[in-house]
Amino acid sequence: MSAALSRENWNDRARSLSYRNQCFIGNRFVSAASGRTFTSTNPATGKPLTQVSAGDKEDVDRAVKAARAAFDKGVWSRIAGAERKKVLLRFADLMEKHATELALLETLDIGKPIGDSSSVDVPLSIQCIRWYAEAIDKIYDEIAPTEPNAISLIRREPLGVVGAVIPWNFPLLMGSWKIGPALATGNSMVVKPAEQSPLSMLRLAELAAEAGVPEGVFNVVPGYGETAGQALGRHMDVDAITFTGSTEVGKFFLRYSGESNMKQVSLECGGKTPNIIMADAPNLDAAAEAAAWGIFFNQGEVCNAGSRLIVEESVKDAVLEKIRKVAQILQPGDPLDPKTKMGAMVDETQMNRVLGYIEAGSKEGAKLAFGGKRVRSETGGYYIEPTVFDGVKNSMKIAQEEIFGPVLSTITFKDPADAVKIGNDTVYGLAAAVWTSDINKAFKTSAALRAGVVWVNCFDNGHISSPFGGFKQSGFGRDKSLHAMDKYTQLKATWINIS
Ligand code: NAP
Ligand code: MG
Repeated sequence: MSAALSRENWNDRARSLSYRNQCFIGNRFVSAASGRTFTSTNPATGKPLTQVSAGDKEDVDRAVKAARAAFDKGVWSRIAGAERKKVLLRFADLMEKHATELALLETLDIGKPIGDSSSVDVPLSIQCIRWYAEAIDKIYDEIAPTEPNAISLIRREPLGVVGAVIPWNFPLLMGSWKIGPALATGNSMVVKPAEQSPLSMLRLAELAAEAGVPEGVFNVVPGYGETAGQALGRHMDVDAITFTGSTEVGKFFLRYSGESNMKQVSLECGGKTPNIIMADAPNLDAAAEAAAWGIFFNQGEVCNAGSRLIVEESVKDAVLEKIRKVAQILQPGDPLDPKTKMGAMVDETQMNRVLGYIEAGSKEGAKLAFGGKRVRSETGGYYIEPTVFDGVKNSMKIAQEEIFGPVLSTITFKDPADAVKIGNDTVYGLAAAVWTSDINKAFKTSAALRAGVVWVNCFDNGHISSPFGGFKQSGFGRDKSLHAMDKYTQLKATWINIS
């Protein structure tokens, strides 16, 4: 779509871009009831992009009412799956038509490289919407094998009003993982994007309306987590919350639910992915290269980032040497330059948080192998160079806590059982990887790792048909695949006696 655009082209487009910056409720843009706004900043320069309506309780309530009204009318919830499919396919086509604009919004708002937003975030989001659109008229309900004098129809019904609360690292893609299955199954939605990244979601909602998603079905309330997010979590007329974000905030949503209407909650939370490289990896160079990309991609702001390199002692030096080489081509640059592989951290707070972890690593006695500093500060932006610690103990803060930045902790092991033990020794269980040529070791290790996805001889591979989500405090419920439908539907058994 945009492969041919140069840095100048992207900058020209950025200058002429207009922003949607109000709440989107009932297919219209409206200011927050309070009239308040917050600043959306470009982390590549530290300069403001636009003022965005700061939605709060009253706005969430308006959006939930619009969503409920649409749901009850049945304009979306009770039409044929094939009809919803038509609208959602049109929606995906419109996303494709406006792909460069969406990619640009994503890059300007959060500082990720334009090459990534246009080749990863936007196309995968479009694919996701299409996939659920295509799926929805091919799913059958069930009839239970009861005695012959009865029929028990087991049907999936949409839940009603779904609140989606999403993070800033992949706003469009994490949003699409929820919007696709929630809308395909007939729900109405209220989406609360992260305060750092509201712009692409607001444009997306407008495109959905243009595609024919009826009024009130897809609403977006930008605003702060503690206000708008909490209001959604505690709303008495929201049937479910689908959340992606930190474990800490995920736990808040469980509390909100318990203290309000017991709404269903599904949580995609943090991670501390162990990337286990055994000495008999089929190709050590490839493993090391994947390890580098696995932690530095998207500035390390990835829930399943391979932040713990658990490597067999005998090959550690060779692996780190290769990672160092790859890191050289991943030095941060201007996100609007198509050649840039690593952009800016999402904001100043996140940058300082990551720098704080780097300091903590050194203080605890880990050895800084390379990187560790803020760079390009003359741009006003928030860049951190790829950073690797050697000699890390798994008990250290940098091995236990999610840093959400380009910081790799290297831990060595001598025998595979140890690797699994270290791998499992955090509160998280989102993803894991193991590299080995031995099929027995590969299978045993992947079975013993407590994670929602385990990659064997690869890292971060996936497909919309394969489920994604965590074990332990990485959450519960799955995004992607037909299993995601479970989060947005409830089963109703209709028992018919045959006399
Ligand atoms: P976050 O701070 O937990 O925020 C996530 C969302 O929750 C945002 O929309 C945020 O709004 C809102 N929120 C914050 N405090 C809240 C509160 N007290 N009540 C209600 N809502 C609240 O996470 P983030 O910093 O945006 O994203 C990074 C995290 O997301 C990492 O932990 C990462 O691992 C996780 N993540 C997980 C997955 C996955 O699939 N498992 C994928 C991507 C990211 P504000 O921004 O306005 O505060
Ligand atoms: Mg921003």
